Amino acid sequence: MRIILLGAPGSGKGTQAQRLQKDLGLPQISTGDLLRKAAVSGSEFGLQAKMAMDAGELVSNSVVLEMMKERLSACDVGSGYVLDGFPRNQIQAEGLDTVLSDLGQTLDAAVFMDVSHEVLMKRLTGRRTCSKTGKLMNIHFSSQQDLDECIEAGGTLIRRDDDNEDTIRNRLEVYERETEPLITYYRKCRLLQVVDAHTRAAASQNIEVRLVALPGFGFDVDTPEDLRQVHQYPRARQTASFLDSIGFVGRYPRLDRDVGSDLVAIG
Ligand code: AMP
Repeated sequence: MRIILLGAPGSGKGTQAQRLQKDLGLPQISTGDLLRKAAVSGSEFGLQAKMAMDAGELVSNSVVLEMMKERLSACDVGSGYVLDGFPRNQIQAEGLDTVLSDLGQTLDAAVFMDVSHEVLMKRLTGRRTCSKTGKLMNIHFSSQQDLDECIEAGGTLIRRDDDNEDTIRNRLEVYERETEPLITYYRKCRLLQVVDAHTRAAASQNIEVRLVALPGFGFDVDTPEDLRQVHQYPRARQTASFLDSIGFVGRYPRLDRDVGSDLVAIG
C-alpha cells in the first residue's frame, strides 16, 4: 500500500505515520526527518535545508524531489510506505506521479487529516521533547506528572527550532498557500480520504476505517506467499472485530478461514 498523509503542521501526520509503520508494517518516509538529518550532518545541502526550515519556508522542490526519487526507489519500500510531509505542493505532487509511473507503481490513498486552526496552534506552540528520554510531550495537553517526570529525571523540555511563534505562523501560511490545494488535486484523482483528526484516538480510528475499506487492503489467501503477506498485518483481526462492533458496512477483511493454527483475515 502506498499512502500519503496530508495535513497542516501539527495535524499529527508523524504520529499516525509511526503508528501505521508499527501496526501495518508500512515504512514511514518523512521528508522533515530526512531534511533534519541532513541539517545535522553539516553538509552544504543540509545547511541550506536548515535555513529554509528555521524560517518556516519550504526547501527547494528540486532538492526534495531528487531526495525522494532516491528514497522511493530503495528496495525496503518496494511493497509500500506512508509518506509524511511529502508532497507539499503541486510541483512535488506531479513529480511524485512521474516517479511512481517510472517505477510502474500507483498510490492507494491520500488521507487528509482535518484539524481546526485553534488546535493546531496549541499543538505546535506547546510541543516539547524531553532531553533525557526523547519523549514527545505538550505543555497544553500532557499531564503535569509526565512533564514533572522529565524534569525530575534531570531532563529539560526542548522546543524544536521551528516551533517558535513566528516560524509557526509562517509554516501555517505556507501550508495554506502551497499544500492545501493538494486536497483538490487528490480529490480530482479520486484518491482523497478526509478524516477528523482532532484527537489522536479519533485520527487512529478514522484512518484505520478508511484504509481497511480500500481495495489494496484485502487478501485472498491461497498460497504460502499470500499467507506470508497476511502475517505482515498483525492487526487485521482486531480491525475486523472493531469494524463489526461499529456496524461498518463495506469491504473489509473478514475472519472466515482457518489456516493451520492461524486465523487469517481475508479481504
Ligand atoms: P515537518 O517535519 O514535516 O513539519 O517539516 C519540517 C520542515 O521541513 C518544513 O517546515 C519544511 O521547511 C521542510 N520540509 C519538510 N518536508 C518538505 C517538503 N516536502 N518540501 C519542502 N520542504 C519540506
